Amino acid sequence: MSKVPFLYLNKPYQEIQDELDAAYRRVMKSGWYILGEEVDAFEAQYSSYCGSKHCIGVANGLDALHLILRVYEIGNGDEVIVPSNTYIATWLAVSYTGARPVPVEPDPASYNIDPARIESAITSRTRAILLVHLYGQTAEMDAILAIARQYNLKVIEDAAQAHGAVYKGKYAGSIGDAAGWSFYPGKNLGAFGDAGAVTTNDDRLAERIRVLRNYGSKVKYYNEVIGYNSRLDPLQAAFLQVKLKYLNEWNLRRKIIAREYLTNLSDLPDLILPHVPDLVDPAWHLFVIRHSQRDGLQKCLNESGIGTLIHYPIPPHLSDAYRDAEYKKGDFPIAENSAQTVLSLPMGPHMALDDAIQVISAIRAFHEN
Ligand SMILES: *Cc1c(COP(=O)(O)O)cnc(C)c1O
Repeated sequence: MSKVPFLYLNKPYQEIQDELDAAYRRVMKSGWYILGEEVDAFEAQYSSYCGSKHCIGVANGLDALHLILRVYEIGNGDEVIVPSNTYIATWLAVSYTGARPVPVEPDPASYNIDPARIESAITSRTRAILLVHLYGQTAEMDAILAIARQYNLKVIEDAAQAHGAVYKGKYAGSIGDAAGWSFYPGKNLGAFGDAGAVTTNDDRLAERIRVLRNYGSKVKYYNEVIGYNSRLDPLQAAFLQVKLKYLNEWNLRRKIIAREYLTNLSDLPDLILPHVPDLVDPAWHLFVIRHSQRDGLQKCLNESGIGTLIHYPIPPHLSDAYRDAEYKKGDFPIAENSAQTVLSLPMGPHMALDDAIQVISAIRAFHEN
């Protein structure tokens, strides 16, 4: 039986090698290797794709989120609401500023932060809601924006898994006050190394991020603030311009795989498929099921040559990184249950339908035993 990897990371290059090689040569010959035209061009293309006024390229997704919080002057003594079930980067961005991440449990059906639980987590110190469009499915933005307006909070989208995801006709990254993006290679829009960006309609935020990402200076050697070195690499910007042209087509291929899984696994007991709310068009960054015998199923798939991953095995509150916050098991039971039961099936734009069919038959065989 042939193998189905979790993700074919080498195939994007194979499919569009000529264009990527041409982009590489263009940058190498230009003699310009920091910021400049390639970064400007990608920023213009990506803001226009997302339907946001500005895009500012930065070094990675974690920096994108951190810089947004910095510009909004969130720091010591402040609190930021975050999902209890996210990749730890969401929390780290808050911790970098000195503020405290305040976890809120997800809706177990969508895995996204549950708007009904946000209000009780708000205190006089709360400054922002940093939500995540987890697994490529947009959070309940209308409800979140309504709460934020009522309490005068910033709404920041962690859009690292949601390139091309749509909520009520709007692209992720154009809905809140600002969004942080990662172009880590395995994301839906992935670079060939680390890369990230901020999108926003907020003119002042955009201007300040441009300053902060470049040593706190707008004019060379004139430093206004203690900034960072967090610039988008022009070579990655050139690659991203090429890959952006394929994003919608490649997301469509993900959708075809998702449909195949959704139609052929729906009758299995103990297996919970992703639920797609009305008015949400997911980017299908990950296809995450829940299973009461998750570890057994993963082992069985692995033995059939099928790669799976767990996103994520340890919720941030139980990770050693946050031991000083003194959380304990049972504090966030929905996140903890997710960590015990979720399994990400192979998903990506370079998976063949036959791959999906193999995955489906291996899962069905597990259920017959
Ligand atoms: C990938 C990811 C990040 C971080 O992106 P990097 O570019 O690796 O820093 C942040 N949040 C979420 C939800 C992610 O999936």
